[in-house]
Amino acid sequence: MLQTIAKPPLTIRLCQPRGFCAGVDRAIQIVVLALKKYGAPVYVRHEIVHNRYVVEGLQSLGAVFIEELSEIPPEHRQSPVVFSAHGVPKSVPADAQARNLFYLDATCPLVSKVHKQAMRHQRLGRHVLLIGHAGHPEVIGTMGQLPEGAVTLIETEADAARLVPNDPKALGFVTQTTLSVEDTAGIIRALQDRFPDLQAPAAESICYATTNRQEAVKDTAPGADLYLIVGAPNSSNSRRLVEVAERAGARMSLLVQRAAEIPWNDIGNISTLGLSAGASAPEIIVDEIIDAFRQRFDVTIDLAITATETEDFPVMRVLRDVELTPADMAFVNGAA
Ligand code: SF4
Repeated sequence: MLQTIAKPPLTIRLCQPRGFCAGVDRAIQIVVLALKKYGAPVYVRHEIVHNRYVVEGLQSLGAVFIEELSEIPPEHRQSPVVFSAHGVPKSVPADAQARNLFYLDATCPLVSKVHKQAMRHQRLGRHVLLIGHAGHPEVIGTMGQLPEGAVTLIETEADAARLVPNDPKALGFVTQTTLSVEDTAGIIRALQDRFPDLQAPAAESICYATTNRQEAVKDTAPGADLYLIVGAPNSSNSRRLVEVAERAGARMSLLVQRAAEIPWNDIGNISTLGLSAGASAPEIIVDEIIDAFRQRFDVTIDLAITATETEDFPVMRVLRDVELTPADMAFVNGAA
């Protein structure tokens, strides 16, 4: 007689909110709507959001990803080009205009808000300190809102300790939207200790989605045997979630792009798994990962609701006359 072996029990603490934020949702919508309205190809400068599944999905619909506008062939100059959610330096729309290109700017409104805060500091005669990670497209975009030399990038508390400004009384800071809330607070404190006249931006730079996802992970990490964050290695907010989980007490914390990346042999005996997804990771991959655990464990889902998000950023006027089918909506929302 065949014996069925009982699967070991596993509780999955599933964070809510997790995954797509309003800025990512809007950026993907812009590409899908542009493809429907203008037809393929639609060019997209840089990964529209940092997620391979999303990028490949859009490529299959006719989007072409480029890094520089010069890559658009002359015969496709009439096709739209979309700028990614991370924002672009001012030189990019200027270059698009010079080339007579039709561009759609999918910069998240919360990134644009940081751009405005940086420009406001400069207008008020302050040198701008941008707290962020060198090389990230959002940082390149924010620095590129102001003339060269007007912004200094601060990555760490050590950078804050080393800074020698021309006028310590005329400084203002902004931050990247996707940083660790805790680390950033430490850097700001270090700057304020040295420069008491340092001016904060008029509104918080770290966005609601980053803050909410970090809070949810922090709440659910203590006692977790393993914490998985769904996201890409180049996704800043996803990588911060891995760090938050570790610091908050998860025994092990890993970033995975797909279920196939779960290192089953390294996981060992686990009874509690924490699970969340970065702001650019679609829900369909969260489902894929839960299914992979169901095949090996007797899973109980413990939904940990720590915030309710109602943010919704409308697309630009020129795309509002295009309708999305239920299938389009499922893709835009990360469910397909
Ligand atoms: S993570 Fe924040 S800033 Fe980035 S796209 Fe989402 S809402 Fe906008």
